[in-house]
Amino acid sequence: MSGQSAALRVSVEEKLGVDKFHVDESYPHIEVDKAADPADIMTLVRACPAGLYKYSEGALTFDYAGCFECGTCRVLSKGKVVSKWSFPKGTFGVEYRFG
Ligand code: SF4
Repeated sequence: MSGQSAALRVSVEEKLGVDKFHVDESYPHIEVDKAADPADIMTLVRACPAGLYKYSEGALTFDYAGCFECGTCRVLSKGKVVSKWSFPKGTFGVEYRFG
């Protein structure tokens, strides 16, 4: 690998660190069923690349702010945990700023 290409290497964390999130406080674009089966919840805890699903002491916490809008939770939930999934309304949501 040349020195120039090595200098251009940027970690995923660095790339994500420059993104901006325009959060629509009046419209949660994802809603969850906090009474869902813990095994189904844990699937999303492990899969969400933004780490927005947290499960501790028998309770699910979720905050749609910081969502990458990847759809992983919608697909893996199979209707069991995610009760509503949509993209944020226009001008809201993630703004990718690196590549
Ligand atoms: S859409 Fe992706 S980033 Fe957003 S909550 Fe679901 S899994 Fe996480």
